[in-house]
Amino acid sequence: SKQLGKNRCQFYSQDMQEAARRRVQLEAELRVAIERREFVLYYQPIIDVGSGRVSGAEALVRWQHPLRGLVSPDEFIAIAEDTGMILPIGAWVLDEALRQATEWLAQGLPMLRLAVNVSGVQFREQGLFELIAQAARKPGFERIQLVLEITESVLMQSSDATEVLMREIRQLGVNYSLDDFGTGYSSLSYLKRFPVDHVKIDRSFVSDCLEDVNDALLVEAIINMAHSLGLKVTAEGVETEAQRDFLGARQCDFLQGYLISAPLPADDFRSFVLRHGA
Ligand code: C2E
Ligand code: CA
Ligand code: CA
Ligand code: CA
Repeated sequence: SKQLGKNRCQFYSQDMQEAARRRVQLEAELRVAIERREFVLYYQPIIDVGSGRVSGAEALVRWQHPLRGLVSPDEFIAIAEDTGMILPIGAWVLDEALRQATEWLAQGLPMLRLAVNVSGVQFREQGLFELIAQAARKPGFERIQLVLEITESVLMQSSDATEVLMREIRQLGVNYSLDDFGTGYSSLSYLKRFPVDHVKIDRSFVSDCLEDVNDALLVEAIINMAHSLGLKVTAEGVETEAQRDFLGARQCDFLQGYLISAPLPADDFRSFVLRHGA
């Protein structure tokens, strides 16, 4: 009835108001979090399929909220991107990851690949080059294999300027990995045009590759295509031995996922490397 329809409208608009209110609150808290540096990095091991050894880690940010505890990036990265707060957060992430890698090297840990997520917003800012150039001037940088993980959207929305920026950053000794591969609409031409040397198969394909024949074929196709272009492949979200075996049989190069390890605090990652070898 009309009455019901009206009530439903009110219900929705109340819901939306509540969501908007929560968002404003989160935004305000995030500003404070940046000032107080309430962030922490976790490191998820990535292993080499052939040797079973640790090849590196992906740094993943968490927000240590004074009341709510550890907040997942899924809850604040999008807001940080919309508001530009991703710039100071992203700068902190890069600095902290490199500081940690330098410390690990000083502690005698072997050289590892360190992957850091970089938002498209950061790529549209010229400041990214200076940020990495500054890091590159610090002692020990040449011993760290820094990898920037970017999503397809970075390449799809990119201009010639992005391409130049990517190449300039690469000259500093940094590599690129194309994250969440398969979820966007990028084509082979992107992989050829941009200086990417690595792709990561999105978790959604990996998780269904044993149940869904389309996902299995897609995973196979991505691996073969990437290899024919001279790129290495990491599968993310590997949770079962069956998935690991499927990927291994298809020559996937690196694995990442709960089967190997959840993301770990820095000290636990270090112990993981000491236990498993690198
Ligand atoms: P992502 O880059 O695709 O990172 C992988 C996500 O999958 C991580 O979630 C990781 O904890 C989770 N994961 C790893 N293995 C498994 C598994 O076996 N099963 C399942 N179900 N999940 C697994 P997390 O840490 O919550 O990060 C979520 C997203 O937030 C990331 O997705 C990335 O897009 C973004 N993010 C995280 N840290 C940063 C950062 O420093 N900067 C930016 N710009 N984005 C970040
Ligand atoms: Ca990533
Ligand atoms: Ca990913
Ligand atoms: Ca993802």
